[in-house]
Amino acid sequence: MMKTLGLIGGMSWESTVPYYQIINEAVKDRLGGLHSARLILYSVEFAEIEEMQSAGQWDTAAEVLGDAARKLESCGADYIVICTNTMHKVAPQIQRMISVPVIHIADATAEVLKQDGIRRIALLGTKYTMTQDFYKQRLIDQGFEVLIPAEEDIEPVNRIIFEELCVGEINDESRKEYQRIIQDLKDRGAEGVILGCTEIGMLIKPEDSVLPVYDTTLIHAQAAAEAALAE
Ligand code: GLU
Repeated sequence: MMKTLGLIGGMSWESTVPYYQIINEAVKDRLGGLHSARLILYSVEFAEIEEMQSAGQWDTAAEVLGDAARKLESCGADYIVICTNTMHKVAPQIQRMISVPVIHIADATAEVLKQDGIRRIALLGTKYTMTQDFYKQRLIDQGFEVLIPAEEDIEPVNRIIFEELCVGEINDESRKEYQRIIQDLKDRGAEGVILGCTEIGMLIKPEDSVLPVYDTTLIHAQAAAEAALAE
């Protein structure tokens, strides 16, 4: 029987919408007909979470998301899917608060990179994801070399995520900025680029990038559907 997915979404809600669609499409592709995913969505108030991020109150954020995960588990979720890369900073704390597995976004992405034989990978995401260790180290531990944008490009990449993409704004100028940064990462030897923020896929499509793109929203949602469908 198909398992139930428990999604913690709303970070931002703009990027939670495609999760619902991708998961259902994956189930339909596999089972056909009227089949659709069994899932529960707990969507948080992102303004509160973002304030905690900016203030460095990660333990408080872990409590809020851990409480959501517990509620999902008590409603029957077999797996927890945290629909943001950044908040995987507190994934270990959330995991300790529940007994069902968290499907980790970086591990799902690493699996696809391995299948494609990629070793040196560029990472775009929020400033937390790009500059702190919680995400990069998880990839390094699995044998990847991780390249992040030049220091002066960290802030623009981060700003476009929070000020534009998270409020549903898609700008050509910002796309060009990302394209320039991806070209720079390619020149430095990257073999592919992780869109390591669940909103970036709204701005950068595979055809916009000189490097093969690894869209974490797509990869994570597909991995979740596979877990739900596994025997
Ligand atoms: N959705 C974004 C991510 O994947 C950023 C929003 C957040 O800070 O959680 O990292």
